[in-house]
Order: sequence, then structure tokens, then C-alpha cells
Amino acid sequence: MTLRIRIAVRGAVQGVGFRPFVYRLASELRLAGWVRNSPLGVFIEAEGEKSLLDQFVMRLEREKPVHARIQSLEFSFLDPLGFAGFEIRASSGEGDSAALVLPDIATCAECLREIFDPAERRYRYPFTNCTHCGPRFSIIESLPYDRGNTSMKAFALCERCRREYEDPTDRRFHAQPIACPACGPQLELWDAAGRAVARRDEALLETAAAIRAGKIAAVKGLGGFHLIADARNDDAVARLRARKRREEKPLALMFPDIAAVRRACEVSELEERLLRAPEAPIVLLERREVAGIDPVAPSVAPGNPCLGVMLPYTPLHHLLMRELGFPVVATSGNLSDEPICIDEHEALERLRSIADLYLVHDRPIVRQVDDSVVRVVLGRELMLRRARGYAPLPWNLGKALPAILAVGGHLKNAVAWTRGGNVFLSQHIGDLESGEAFAAFRRVIDDLVRLHDVRPAHVAVDMHPDYISAKYARSLGLPLLAVQHHHAHVAACAAENELSGRVLGVSWDGTGYGPDGTIWGGEFLLADEDSFRRIAHWRCFRLPGGERAVKEPRRAAVGLLYEMLGERAFEPPLPAPLAACTAAERMLFRRMLAGAIHSPLTSSAGRLFDAVASLAGIRQTNAYEGQAAMELEFAVPRDPPADRYPFRIAGSGPGGEAAGAWVLDWEPMMRDILRDLQRGTSPGIVAARFHNTLAAAIVEVARLAGEERVVLSGGCFQNSYLTRRAVECLEAAGFRPYRHQRIPPNDGGIALGQACVAAAALEKG
Ligand code: ZN
Ligand code: ZN
Ligand code: FE
Repeated sequence: MTLRIRIAVRGAVQGVGFRPFVYRLASELRLAGWVRNSPLGVFIEAEGEKSLLDQFVMRLEREKPVHARIQSLEFSFLDPLGFAGFEIRASSGEGDSAALVLPDIATCAECLREIFDPAERRYRYPFTNCTHCGPRFSIIESLPYDRGNTSMKAFALCERCRREYEDPTDRRFHAQPIACPACGPQLELWDAAGRAVARRDEALLETAAAIRAGKIAAVKGLGGFHLIADARNDDAVARLRARKRREEKPLALMFPDIAAVRRACEVSELEERLLRAPEAPIVLLERREVAGIDPVAPSVAPGNPCLGVMLPYTPLHHLLMRELGFPVVATSGNLSDEPICIDEHEALERLRSIADLYLVHDRPIVRQVDDSVVRVVLGRELMLRRARGYAPLPWNLGKALPAILAVGGHLKNAVAWTRGGNVFLSQHIGDLESGEAFAAFRRVIDDLVRLHDVRPAHVAVDMHPDYISAKYARSLGLPLLAVQHHHAHVAACAAENELSGRVLGVSWDGTGYGPDGTIWGGEFLLADEDSFRRIAHWRCFRLPGGERAVKEPRRAAVGLLYEMLGERAFEPPLPAPLAACTAAERMLFRRMLAGAIHSPLTSSAGRLFDAVASLAGIRQTNAYEGQAAMELEFAVPRDPPADRYPFRIAGSGPGGEAAGAWVLDWEPMMRDILRDLQRGTSPGIVAARFHNTLAAAIVEVARLAGEERVVLSGGCFQNSYLTRRAVECLEAAGFRPYRHQRIPPNDGGIALGQACVAAAALEKG
């Protein structure tokens, strides 16, 4: 199948023969398309078979001209436009590079060589960087990007650094964070009381020794603190979990090198590219089945077939990992669900109950930038958390946009804004549950004026009246545009796939405010940029206790059983969710459901996953958001059955007399699931058939809607098996499925969708 790839390359790629190189490579692979310079970087579009486009990207990086240095490279697969031949297009003047804030960039090969070469003056210096690598976004205080406007301003250049900085032939010509052991930042090791106990290399070596001995180190990195412990040491990892109050959620790992990653995980070519990329995200990789010793302790990611893996991305991490030579847990330095800690004095306070020691330095971190998280699904990247290495790079929408600030959702919050023809998505901020997180949210918005020179004229918010983001937005005194949550999901996915006009949006997640007073989350929207019609949704059921059901999947199951069976749901033999309740809880749920007390109706697909996980006995209560649904995905066997359960479509549909919506009834499926479980069918088979049913339901609604373009968005599409299955079934049935690539399908992408919907609404007046 012919596809179009769109590539944005930033770095030293202009004036080094990059465009002729791209032209030659594209011609060799017989790809049609174009390459163009702009102040915002080099942009490439090419069309051809997917396998050729994959080769094209890999070879772009591998075979680039000697003087070209890539600092950021993002690509998406899009619909082909039918280019004829390949051309070098005239440079465009659009976009203002002076206003472009670059992300932090992983250590380049030259700097890496220097820090391990005893003959170099930056031998073992943890703050080595050059024009091609090092900190950017995390140290910029204001623009233009000059040393005086960064947190490096306090460090006066020594004579030798100054010569390099001023020499146009030097790799460090105008490298703003340039530093060396004589003039730059230095390491210190602090004990739990904040006393400096070692300096410089000694601090690093002592930290390594402590980690080796099973201690937990708080390490000040690029965009915040990590908590680091020996990933092989189950005792140390369990202690870290207990202290961080993070019971079961998987912990991210840093491996010393790619060879070590390969020993623990399956790594495809694209996954390896991501691990080694200048953006250096955390990549979710499937564990390898290795006989004998497990390369990481069981408590790193209990019951999870994947590991979140990254490689060292600063000289400090490289030095530490070279010293250790084994994988470490490198999780963000915070208490569960709070924003990442960026200041050493703050760390002493906030991390005191977690860390045994603190490896710190005197280069201030100006703003939090978490590690990004990506995974590969069906040969494409899927962004799960967009932060370090990616934020805040813009998308050009190719048309002037009104000045909009979009404040995002409640969980996994990020904000978005427009300027000129660009829309920007901020770094991941976090769940706006704590005061710390709300403060971080406000800091990011304060940055808009100071750093990005953005003065919004309109604010886009979620329709939920109680979201703290929406309350904050109301306090700004600007005209508000309320965007429905699931419409925002669809708009974000449509925008990144360059779709305009009407699409069928499949918007599935846990929770979103529905304008009809129910909780939405299993929605089919016939949507365009500024409006939508809810043409179908999953049948509603009550959630006893409302929000509490998010933490207790058994509540979703009980609500669903009650909707289906009424009072008979409480008669023996009790299914797993009710058997997992005390008699008092059963009575309470029964009373709540019978009287519809504090039991809102929901059409949430996320809660369907919860209910099935609970019924299958996989999980009754969650230790972290989405755990039951994830475990239901993990239960699907490697060789899943292709069959599915029945479902029913009821209601008149949007075209009928009542102009209502189709209701996708899960009851036939649930009856068969209960029967399967009674017969002793394994939870894995039930899980696979459940996923298959959901994919079939998507195809059926697409048929009814008669809309060729089907956009898959919402947190449920973080699920790799569901996404794969839905894409394959839709394609087999002649539809064109679109999924997320550069923007998270979860609520981290909501702000971008809000901005797009608001812009379209304003344009239409
Ligand atoms: Zn470098
Ligand atoms: Zn120096
Ligand atoms: Fe959502």
C-alpha cells in the first residue's frame, strides 16, 4: 500500500548538502515527493511503499552528509497525495526560528567520545555538550536563546571555552551551554541531611557504589530528578516502591547500552532507532523470554510483558551507567502522581522519605521536562507521553490561526497554544490532582507570555464544569470556548493525520463529560473540525460510587451485571466481582444501584474493559489508573483466537424518526463471557474474544455510518492489541483507519484537539 511520510528534521541540516542528499536517496528508492528548507527546519514528504519509506528514514540518519547533525527527527505516515517525481522545493520564509524553543538533545557521538578519552580536557566531565547536543528547553529562561538567557548565565566562560565559543570552525561555536571542568557546573553528593559529602568525579563514583550496594539515589538530571536503584536488586526496587508509594505501576529502566537492552527485550529496527535517537525517549519493549536469570527484578514491572526502557542521554547518565554496567530503575523523582522535582533543595524536602542520597549539581533546571514515552504499534510510533526531546516543537497547520490557549483535560494534562500558523503542545505536566501539579500547570501557562510571547485572545476548555483547568481558564477573563472531551480526542487525531472534513471518530476512554449528563467514554462521533454528532455509543450502565469505580473495576462489573440482570445479579452463585465484596459492600452496591444513588450512567469503553477484567477474575481493585484494562490486554495470548462474541445494535440511529443514536449493546457479549467463564474458559481466551468483539463493533458502526475515514482516539487506543485488531479489521472491510502517532491518544492529546476545534469554530464565527 502506498503511503506518504512526512518528516521534520531539525539540527545542523541546512547548508551542509542535506537537501541534495535527500533528493538522491529518494530518487534511488524511487520515492515521489519533495524536500524544503524553512526557518523551522527541513521538511520532507515522500510517497511509496511502507517498507521503502521505512528504509528511507533509516538511511536518512545513517547516510547523512558528514557535516549534517540531526537534533530532532519526527515522522508520521499519512495518506498519499499523488506526487509525481521528487523535487527540491524553494525555501519558505514562514515561521520565525528566533522564536523556536528547541527541546533538550541527547549527548552526541563526538561529546561521548570526549568524555571517555583521558587525553581530552572534558574527560569524565558530566556537563559536556556542543552545538549539536545538550540542554535547551530545560535551561532557557527567555528568548532569544543566548547564554545570558539561560540558567548557564552564572558560569563565566574560561579562556579555552571562550575561544571555542568564538571560533566558527569549532564544534562549540556559539554552543550556549558550553562548559568544561574549569568553568562549568560541578557535581556534589549530598547525604540525607543535605550535607555535601563528596564533589566532582568522587561524587559520581560514590553514588555508583551506593546504588551497587542497594541504596536509592536521587539524581538531578536534565529536566528533573530521577530516583535510581539497581534494577536487579528486588529488595532495593521494592523499597523504592514502598517509599514512593507506587505499589505496582511499572517503573522505567535505564540500560547501560543497546546490547544490554537486547539481552532483556525484543528490539525491532524502529525501536532501536527510537532508543538511540536524539530525543532518547522511554520505549515500551516486549520482554524476551530468557531461560535462567531474569535481567531485572520481578518488582520492576510485575505481571507486565513489557519494560519501559531508555538509554543514557546526558554525559552524567553515560558516566554513571558505564560505571555501573547493569540496568537501573530510573523513575521520576516525585511522590506518586506529583510533578517531577527539579531543584535540589526542593528535592531534599520532597524526596526525603524516598532517597538515601542525592547526586546534585549547580546548573539550575528552569522547568520540568519528564522523560517521553513511546511504543511501536503495527510499524508506527505511538506517542504515549510527549515531553523531553519533543516538546514544545510545533505543528504547522498551514493557515493562520487565532491566538488560542487550550488548557487540556484533568489527567495527564498538557496545554496547547497557537501562534501564527503553528500549534504547540506543551510538555507533559501530570494529573491535576495535587497542589503541586496545579502549580506546575500554572508555571507552564506563565511561560507562554515570557518564553513563547503568546498572548491568547481565547481560551479553549473541557466542558466539565468542575475541572480545575476549566476553573482556572474562567479566571483569565478571556472569551471561553468549551470543547467536548471526546470531540477533542478525535480532532487531535484527525489534525495529526492531516484530515479535514467529516470523519467517523471512535473516541474510547475511561471518562469524559457528556453534555447529556451521563459519563461518556464509548463514543462514535461523526465529526468535523468544529462540530460533531454522537451517532452511536455503548449501552449505558450505572457505576455505583461514580469516580470510585476508576479505582475499583469490580464496581463497573457490578453495575453492568445489575443493568443486565437486575436484582438477580446478587443471587448465588456470585460472579467474581461480587464474590470479591464483603456482604456489607454487596448490600451497599445493591442499594445504590436499586435507588440510582450516587451511581451515574456511563457509556465508557474503559469501564467495559474494567468490568471484563473483574469478571474474568483478573483484577478487582486497581493500584494505578488503567491497571485492570492493561492486564486484560496482557492476558491476550501470543497466538490469540480469531473468534468473537455477539453484540447487538439497537436504537434508531441518527437518521431515524427520533434522530437518536445507535446503541451498541454489550449484553449478548456479556452473557457469552459469563457462560465461557462458567465453563472454565481461560481468562486469556475471554480477553482475546472481548477485544475481537470491540474491533468488530467498530467495523459494524463504520458500515452503518457509511464513512470511509475512521479515526481511532482516546486512552483505550494505547492498547496495542485493540489498536492492531481494529486497524486490521477496518482495512479488511475497506475502511481507512487513522491512529495517533506524534500526539498521545490519552488525555495528553486533549489540549491539541481543543485548540483545533476552537480555531475552526472561531474561523466559522
Ligand atoms: Zn555534542
Ligand atoms: Zn571552560
Ligand atoms: Fe479522554
